[in-house]
Amino acid sequence: MDAMDSQVLTSALHHLARINRITAALSPAVEKDQVAGAIGVALTSPRGLGYSRAFIFAYDEQRECFLPDRALGAAGPDEAVRLAKQSEAERDYLENLLQSLAGDASLAALVEKLDAESLWIDAVQSLDAPGLVFEQWRELCIVPVGAGTGLFTRLAGEPLVVLCKEREDLEALPSPLGGILSLPFVAFSIFTAGGARAVVLADRAFQPDRAIAPEEISLLRWFRSFADLVWSDAETHAELASALERLREIDTLKNDFLATISHELRTPLTAVLGFLDILLDESKRLAAAERRDLLERTRRQADHLLGLVNDLLALAEHRIEGAKALPVGRVDPARPLNAAIARLRANPKWEKARIVAPGVGESPCRILADEQTLERIFYHLLENALKFGGPENEVRVRFQQVGDNCHLAVEDRGIGIERSQLHKIFSHFYQVDSRLSRGYPGMGIGLTLVKILLDATNGHILVESEPGKGSIFTVVYPRWEETAEG
Ligand code: ADP
Repeated sequence: MDAMDSQVLTSALHHLARINRITAALSPAVEKDQVAGAIGVALTSPRGLGYSRAFIFAYDEQRECFLPDRALGAAGPDEAVRLAKQSEAERDYLENLLQSLAGDASLAALVEKLDAESLWIDAVQSLDAPGLVFEQWRELCIVPVGAGTGLFTRLAGEPLVVLCKEREDLEALPSPLGGILSLPFVAFSIFTAGGARAVVLADRAFQPDRAIAPEEISLLRWFRSFADLVWSDAETHAELASALERLREIDTLKNDFLATISHELRTPLTAVLGFLDILLDESKRLAAAERRDLLERTRRQADHLLGLVNDLLALAEHRIEGAKALPVGRVDPARPLNAAIARLRANPKWEKARIVAPGVGESPCRILADEQTLERIFYHLLENALKFGGPENEVRVRFQQVGDNCHLAVEDRGIGIERSQLHKIFSHFYQVDSRLSRGYPGMGIGLTLVKILLDATNGHILVESEPGKGSIFTVVYPRWEETAEG
């Protein structure tokens, strides 16, 4: 093998080793943060693409701009020299290796030798992260897409590799980048299905020969498309991780819900069975009044059970069939309100509850709603107000005309709700305290149903609450217009 062949082979080997190392650096990166880091390492390692410095800007979808993400490479000429020595040592090694083959330059012999020396693996695995984060980097500005920065705008528009050699190229960079980078530099963008994800700039500031050869650009094009793939994988990984997290949350919620409904359904059922046992075993001994009392109590528990089952069915129906609009007409809100209060009072627990509310005929407005639906809404809101209101609680219901609407407010002075929980309480199964041992019974679907029923009848709800002070749930319906509706 003559000197010429040896040089060509060494250079080809070097090239292959470089590609192998770049692939090895990028492949294990699964999270976006790791990918950006691996791209920087592959670009700036002398055993990778060998640039002095690389600057990575990541696209921020919410702010629609590129944000400085990281800078890698040598912080100055001395460090650049130290890093380059590693690469020279490897080149010497490869040359010696080829010499030692002494004339037998077949690929098989080469691979065998390389395997025996395990150079390939060592070289791949020892790819190290060089350099420091530059001080100036911290001062770098945010680069909005299309904000007078020609290069960024171009790169955000299509997946490109651009070689920049002219002063104007530096001037086109946002300040202070123009003063940091040196000519020539390369710029490219990383794209996934969602569009531009990052813009990368790399220069050869500390290399004596700064020229960038055409083959270098083809290598960068290959690197750019490879980075696209790795970045896409990292995005898919992030999406899957968050979907998994969400599924875990739903799973926990469902498990809690199953435990809660079993508990809620079993309580009245156990009472019904208990009363029936007494009636069966001791019917002869019981006086007629006692028998009647037991039967009435059985009836109330069975009604309660039916109410729970109906709520569950309504929820299931909504999930299966989706939102449905219900017919609406003129309603005096005091009528469904008082019907709901009467139903609640049938429960011995709320028999003596203090509820201050407008009587039938005392309402200042008529509304456009559905009477039965509104009764169910009031029932759930009043039940919550009593439940979370504490024993000394007084629940107040007020009706008020506000512009074209009527506000129907259910107010308690109970435990209240933390601000951070307010947006969650209308979600399926959500309870601020979901432990079975909590002091408040309920399946966690009352407010979900209220929301569904309001949506079906063109109403909405407002909540004000302060922990320790109480809550006001205000149902809003349009006022019924005498003239418009006839
Ligand atoms: P539950 O069956 O638990 O009452 P809801 O869907 O009706 O289910 O309410 C969801 C959660 O919202 C309750 O578990 C409770 O934490 C909170 N909540 C609802 N109404 C009130 C209220 N008036 N005061 C305090 N917390 C309330």
